[in-house]
Amino acid sequence: MAALVAARVRDVADFPSPGVAFKDIAPLLADAAAFAAVVGALAQLARERGATAVAGIEARGFMLAAPVAERSGLGFLPVRKAGKMPPPVLRREYELEYGSAAVELRSDLVGAGDRVLVVDDVLATGGTARAACDLLEEAGARVAGVAVLLELAALGGRARLTADCTALLVV
Ligand code: AMP
Repeated sequence: MAALVAARVRDVADFPSPGVAFKDIAPLLADAAAFAAVVGALAQLARERGATAVAGIEARGFMLAAPVAERSGLGFLPVRKAGKMPPPVLRREYELEYGSAAVELRSDLVGAGDRVLVVDDVLATGGTARAACDLLEEAGARVAGVAVLLELAALGGRARLTADCTALLVV
C-alpha cells in the first residue's frame, strides 16, 4: 500500500506558498484502482477498530472519508472549517505556523456510544487532526483512531495526538 500511495501522490514544490512541499493526492483519486485500494484499506481499518462512524476533515479528508464510510456501511461526519455549517456546532481553534484556524463539528449527529475513525489526507503538525479528535470527544464520542494517506514524520504530528494514528505512507 505504501508503494502505491508513493507512486500516485505528487510532490509540488512551493505550493500554495514558497517553502511548502505540497502533497497532491489528485493523481491517486483519479486512478480508479489506486483509489479503490486506498478506500478498501481504510475501510478495513474502520472495521478492525470497531468504528461506528467515519469523520473526514475538510476538504481532502472528505474525498477519502465519505467513500470509506459508505464502503464500511457507516455514516459520514464532516469536520468543517469554521462558519460553514448551521448550528448546533462545536468549535475548536488551533495554532498554525502563522496565526490560527478553527474547525467545527455538528454536535447533534454524534455522541456517547459512537467510536469514530478520523480520516484526512496528510498529517503534518497534527494540529488539525488533534482539533478534530478533541471535537469528537467534546461531543461525547470516542476516537477509534486517526487514519491518513501520508504522514510527514519530520513535523512530529503523531506526538500531538492521543489517539492511535495509522498512515498508509510515512515520509
Ligand atoms: P496539520 O494540522 O499541520 O497536521 O496539517 C494537516 C492539514 O493541512 C491537512 O488537512 C492537510 O490537508 C493539510 N496539509 C498540511 N501540510 C500539507 C502538505 N504538505 N501537503 C498537502 N496538504 C497539507
